[in-house]
Amino acid sequence: MSSPIDQFVCPQCNHEVREEWVSCPVCGLRLKPGGDLVPRAIAWAAVLASYVWGVTLLYRHDRDQALAFAVLVGLPLCYIFGKAVIFRIQGKPLTWKQLGRTSARTALVSLGLLIVAPVLLGLAVVLLLFVVCGGLMMTGQF
Ligand SMILES: [Zn+2]
Repeated sequence: MSSPIDQFVCPQCNHEVREEWVSCPVCGLRLKPGGDLVPRAIAWAAVLASYVWGVTLLYRHDRDQALAFAVLVGLPLCYIFGKAVIFRIQGKPLTWKQLGRTSARTALVSLGLLIVAPVLLGLAVVLLLFVVCGGLMMTGQF
């Protein structure tokens, strides 16, 4: 089977890979010797710098808002950054696609929590009120 120039396969598992991929998505074999570490480091530096800049900017305006922003954006950011670093150390850095998917999923989860958490908290408070009121009524103290 002859393979055209634009088609690459992983030397370990023969899965089709793209030329620009750093590692094989199936077996994790490193296809390139971390050639894109510098652009990635720059990208991460830019992301982290804009995060710090955003928090600082908010902090001057409103401390509570800055704190909320720092936690809400910082936690997912830490998660993605930590994952990227761990995979890099293991010798199979995340592909841009994987990184994008992880970021999207993390953003969705944090957004979901942001919306769902207050609703759940509100429901819990209402439920608690009902239970307390009910309990008081049952014992005839209300
Ligand atoms: Zn492979």
